[in-house]
Amino acid sequence: MPRASLVVQIALGAALVLQLLAPLTLAAEPAYISIIIDDIGHSPSAGKRAINLPADLTYAVIPDAMHATQLARYAHESGKEVMLHMPMENVHRRPMGSLALTSGLTTDQFVSNFTNAVERVPFAIGINNHMGSALTQEPGAMALFMSLVRQHQLYFVDSRTTPMTVASDMAQRQDIRTASRDVFLDNERNLFAIDQQFRKLIRKARQKGSAIGIGHPYGVTLEYLERALPMMQAENVQIIPVSDMLMRRNALRQLAAKSSDSAEQVAQPGV
Ligand SMILES: [Zn+2]
Repeated sequence: MPRASLVVQIALGAALVLQLLAPLTLAAEPAYISIIIDDIGHSPSAGKRAINLPADLTYAVIPDAMHATQLARYAHESGKEVMLHMPMENVHRRPMGSLALTSGLTTDQFVSNFTNAVERVPFAIGINNHMGSALTQEPGAMALFMSLVRQHQLYFVDSRTTPMTVASDMAQRQDIRTASRDVFLDNERNLFAIDQQFRKLIRKARQKGSAIGIGHPYGVTLEYLERALPMMQAENVQIIPVSDMLMRRNALRQLAAKSSDSAEQVAQPGV
């Protein structure tokens, strides 16, 4: 566990201590961020430009998009991580395409949409929700969804398109490797707003040790990232694929559990 969050736990409310310690933590240990580029598959040129960004980003491909399979393959061949970006029912009634998961489907249709989606996105090792502000609130649908995620041995990232999502809770219950989106980079499509959000992502990563951002293959987002990513090393920020981040967090959790076990043994000898 990074030192900063330990300090938060020990000295609750001692914000000043945290502020003073933050630069020390930063010097010792980089902040880790993962960036997922969602909605890959519609435009080959925007998709390729996103995949060619100079860092280990992760690419979430819309299964029924025209160029889904081709771009998933291109990302994989370029050494980049691929996810399946699964369309799900949203509260705004926006169109979701032919493979979307909705509460109106029978179990068979639900399973068949999921299976077809997996087939259209080769090399995917993880999955996140495209939209889904309605479906991710439904425990029953999420339990079924997670059983499929587990069957296909994928990890799951909750895009958190609603604060009422139960998706990552349901993933944890089924012992699926899971994480949640911390920051959307480009809800507002201009360089200034994206810069603000990118800084927020780095700030969160420095506070917690790691953080996950989601962006889209918009021209302005790609232009921003093309400029910002090469500067990350000097900022002591490391960009890692989502699967690496999940592994890292898991290792840190195990380490923290071990050290609290041994602290208990010291505190209670003979118990
Ligand atoms: Zn999406």
